[in-house]
Amino acid sequence: MNHTGSIQLFLDTCHLIHAKGLVSGSGGNISLRCDDGILITPSGRSLESLKEEDLVLLQMDGSCTCPNGGIPSKEWRMHLACYHARPDVSALVHVHSSNAVAVSCMKDADSSCAIPVYTPGYSMRVGELPLLPYMTPGSVELCDHVFPLIAERNSVLLANHGPLAVGRSMEEALNIIEEIEDEAKLFLLLGDRGIAMTKAQQNALPSHGLRF
Ligand SMILES: [Zn+2]
Repeated sequence: MNHTGSIQLFLDTCHLIHAKGLVSGSGGNISLRCDDGILITPSGRSLESLKEEDLVLLQMDGSCTCPNGGIPSKEWRMHLACYHARPDVSALVHVHSSNAVAVSCMKDADSSCAIPVYTPGYSMRVGELPLLPYMTPGSVELCDHVFPLIAERNSVLLANHGPLAVGRSMEEALNIIEEIEDEAKLFLLLGDRGIAMTKAQQNALPSHGLRF
């Protein structure tokens, strides 16, 4: 995929994520690997109104360029860590969506499986979602903890912060984020009345979504 062809897909995804209510204000950030580097959303801007000239082109060494002088999302290090960990993925979506963030703030959360696995779609695309303890957004410490998890699976939940997902395409990464948001909503609706899928039920599915 070349740089020019990537831009419309990137902008369409930014606008879609905002329209779906997965972000508000200037929250959330996404990136897409292209021939010239990694397109990433700028710092301090709403995804709703981004235009081509606002996008930042980031290199794997952390250098960047932006036509209108913008700077990359403050979480750019986390994006780079994921692309270094996973040469096979092309897209990353990170949002601060209400239901997933609410679950990430729960007392007595299960750090190895933050959201019970209730549905087959979630089992196949997400599975047992790890919850990382709170670390400062954009910090090297957070990158160092995200790296080994994303090396092994496609998604992680950051405590008091939100979910992150990678994919071979933008659509795939966004699908994972939507599965997490929907399953988190079910968890909040069900409280302690839910019945999660058993391991046997999950293992009987065609795949159970750690990597692809
Ligand atoms: Zn964030």
